[in-house]
Amino acid sequence: MPQSPLLLPARNPSEWTGPTGNNTWLLRGKVPALIDAGTGDADHVASIERALDGRPLAVVFITHGHPDHAGGLPALRARWPALRVVDAAMDPQPAGDTLLEIVPTPGHAPDHLCFFDAPSGDLYCGDLARRGGSIVIPARKGGNLRDYLASLHRVRALAPRRLLPGHGPVVDDPIALIDDYLAHRAARERQIVDAIADGARPPEEIVARVYAGLSEGLRRAAIETVEAHLQKLEEEGRR
Ligand SMILES: [Zn+2]
Repeated sequence: MPQSPLLLPARNPSEWTGPTGNNTWLLRGKVPALIDAGTGDADHVASIERALDGRPLAVVFITHGHPDHAGGLPALRARWPALRVVDAAMDPQPAGDTLLEIVPTPGHAPDHLCFFDAPSGDLYCGDLARRGGSIVIPARKGGNLRDYLASLHRVRALAPRRLLPGHGPVVDDPIALIDDYLAHRAARERQIVDAIADGARPPEEIVARVYAGLSEGLRRAAIETVEAHLQKLEEEGRR
């Protein structure tokens, strides 16, 4: 029986990353493997070393290039010079005592990947989903809502048993969460289409109609979301 994956917080706490920072997941066993690199925090790297009991980390899987997920690569390479990096679509790769399928899931970022352990049903999902919040689709920085929705459907079709995300707790009911996400995005799209039909044009104006009473920080995130929807409507020839 493969050992269960070990959560090692990356210790980069913030409003966005969560109180203990990003999640990284260590698979011990034949091929010691880490999912996501964190940011290179020295205590994080030390926690990986301790958990491996002197054995070298063999491979790191990167869900996407955002700095809270990939920024720690130089620190990991400095500690384990033979470290292999999996950060692009390729054949399944050994990790721990299992094989991980590499599932391209663009949307939050164009290079986003999920890693699927089919025998256990564990899906390492990076920033595809998180419990207790929706995922930002930064349309101006490579985010794409149509791709994101297609990625949710792709992952749903794998019928994972659990999601092990880049932020927040493990998700034990992935299908329900994904269906919530899909319903939420569809409802948001209807509101935006209605606002446009009512004459709202710039994203700021649409946000003012669709989201009432937002703080400045949230207003900026809402504008990004509306921009992602507008890009989708445009791609579909509906705007
Ligand atoms: Zn990200």
